[in-house]
Amino acid sequence: MKALKAFGEGVIKLIDSPIPTINADQVRIRPLAVGFCGTDVDIIENRIDPAFVNYPITIGHEWCGEIEEIGSKVRSLKVGDRAVVQGIIPCNNCRECKDGHTNRCEIYDEYGFTRDGAASGAVIAKEDLVYVLQSHVSIESGVLAEPTAVVTTGFLKSNPKIGAKVLVIGDGTIGLIAATLIRNWSPSQVDVLGLRKEQESLVKQTGADNFYTSDEELLQLYDFVIEASGSKKGSEGAFRKIARGGTLLILGYIGHEVSIPVVIDDVVNGDFSIFASFGATTVAWKRTVELFNTKKLDLTFLATHRYPLADWERALDALKTAPAPRGKVLMLPQGE
Ligand SMILES: [Zn+2]
Ligand SMILES: [Zn+2]
Repeated sequence: MKALKAFGEGVIKLIDSPIPTINADQVRIRPLAVGFCGTDVDIIENRIDPAFVNYPITIGHEWCGEIEEIGSKVRSLKVGDRAVVQGIIPCNNCRECKDGHTNRCEIYDEYGFTRDGAASGAVIAKEDLVYVLQSHVSIESGVLAEPTAVVTTGFLKSNPKIGAKVLVIGDGTIGLIAATLIRNWSPSQVDVLGLRKEQESLVKQTGADNFYTSDEELLQLYDFVIEASGSKKGSEGAFRKIARGGTLLILGYIGHEVSIPVVIDDVVNGDFSIFASFGATTVAWKRTVELFNTKKLDLTFLATHRYPLADWERALDALKTAPAPRGKVLMLPQGE
């Protein structure tokens, strides 16, 4: 099979790789589509904290696929099921896992980071990490299960209140998912602050009330601010948009060892609650799949660009330079 591998130092190649074999408690899944993510670019270009990546690595942590082979001890899954796989593999033994914080498992191990991801012809997974999608769930929604579980993990932690006025900063995939998903927490208003006016058609489909592209257009403060731009400007601006007693949830990653100035006076006098979140927990994965399977969430609209895996260079180029509106860039390992 072909696998798209990052070697570090900016080197990435589509290489021949053996099809992995399964154990009795595992399944082999054929990826149907793989999302190309800004984090993949960070992996390719060595911008990730080295504690969280093992080179060489097949990229692809946002994906869904179809089960092609099951081990002899697998009971809950069958060949042909469409499925997603929990990204961070919990040991289920350490203190963090036992407390439910499987995203912080002391033995960090994640598809597409420390073990081979889905930009290839096959992924191996243990039965208990695999979640079946109902047939009405689109491949596009399935691909976005991982980033949705990441956003859900942040929401479960920061607990957005019913009736909150919400500001999402960032008009990329995480911001658009956050703006869509927050509706399940019954906010009174959801505004999005982005950079690109041309993203408006996508922002509208999230159900957001208002879309702004300049800080100065924002005339109010918000109870719940979600930083999803992953930029210094967005992160700095986020602290200035929080109402007294409000909450900031940081989902954007601005790069390894990047800092921003924060006025601690405002944080203290404003009685802010500040949350950040890493990866996704088992509970968030289950919640995410349930939202898709019960038709409470559909993110099909977010996939705007598609390329065969063999055309990964065009996909990477689209991720970096395609004009807005641009949502998720997909790579199709089957080459459709
Ligand atoms: Zn991602
Ligand atoms: Zn653990």
